[in-house]
Amino acid sequence: MVGIPGVGKTTLLSKIVDHLKDHDRSVSVVSFGTLMFDVAKENGLSDRDELRKLPVSRQQELQKMAAEKIAEYTEEVVIIDTHAFISSPEGYYPGLPEHVLKIIKPTNFISVSAKPEEIYSRRMSDETRLRDKITLANVKKELDAQSGMISACAVITGSPVKHILNREGKVDEAADKIINAIGL
Ligand code: ATP
Ligand code: MG
Repeated sequence: MVGIPGVGKTTLLSKIVDHLKDHDRSVSVVSFGTLMFDVAKENGLSDRDELRKLPVSRQQELQKMAAEKIAEYTEEVVIIDTHAFISSPEGYYPGLPEHVLKIIKPTNFISVSAKPEEIYSRRMSDETRLRDKITLANVKKELDAQSGMISACAVITGSPVKHILNREGKVDEAADKIINAIGL
């Protein structure tokens, strides 16, 4: 599952996990960023929001190590909470580059989006994170970049992409669409 920050991935995933557990499915949700940060911590990094400021080459090494950990998960359903791209000083770089896709072999992609105005206000009200400068124009640019990046993932892997709109106050509706689309 990919989506730009504040689109509602983590919120949707908690609903999906509840549904799967109610149906006695074994499920694991992996935050790609958290796994990368765990690996980075072992190498001296202390702030999660510093991760995207490391040289891209360093981030690529950490991505690979995180992907190798994900490939070891054995649950029936493994959902990865991640981003189609990461904003770095060098520009947008892919969250799921070909070398990572070859390791984790995703069967489905879910691309979550929401109205730019809603994403903007969700980000502004989240004080737990150190965000980059937020503007509405930038949110729109990021949504465009997301759709290009995830289409490339589909072409590389041959796996389908489901686009989901997470409407304000309609988390359950969006979660149901995902569950039905993949047949979870
Ligand atoms: P990040 O990439 O930064 O982890 P995220 O995509 O996981 O972001 P969430 O943390 O799930 O985003 O959601 C961001 C905020 O938006 C939260 O405060 C959440 O409660 C709220 N939110 C998510 N979906 C909706 C919705 N459909 N309607 C209203 N608020 C929502
Ligand atoms: Mg999240």
